[in-house]
Amino acid sequence: MLDCTFCRIIAHEMEGELVYEDDEVVAFHDINPQAPVHVLIVPRKHIASLNDLAPEDVHLIGKMVLVAKKVAEQMGITADGYRLIWNTGENAGQWIYHVHIHLLGGRRMTWPPG
Ligand code: AMP
Ligand code: ZN
Repeated sequence: MLDCTFCRIIAHEMEGELVYEDDEVVAFHDINPQAPVHVLIVPRKHIASLNDLAPEDVHLIGKMVLVAKKVAEQMGITADGYRLIWNTGENAGQWIYHVHIHLLGGRRMTWPPG
């Protein structure tokens, strides 16, 4: 999927500020950060959105959450807290159709989100 921005970052064809990488999951800084820490956690496998998850993706999705936890530790935001967001579809404002978790932290956040 070389027309996909995140597939291109994963393939090192496009620049990304990587903070974590393994054989299944990659994490990099968001280009337009909404908090002092704003990292995107993405699977190497191209899955367009949560709507496209298959039962066999259950391990991968769990792994993404564990990577988010690990990156939060790496960024020093574990104790103060952080937010994980999965935007899905138009109403949620999903812009890039390659499934990703937003890891946001480093500031106090409000609820409900906008
Ligand atoms: P979403 O609205 O959930 O699809 O979020 C997509 C996110 O990807 C946005 O927060 C963008 O700022 C971010 N983004 C778009 N292009 C890039 C890029 N080339 N490198 C890093 N982050 C990006
Ligand atoms: Zn992709």
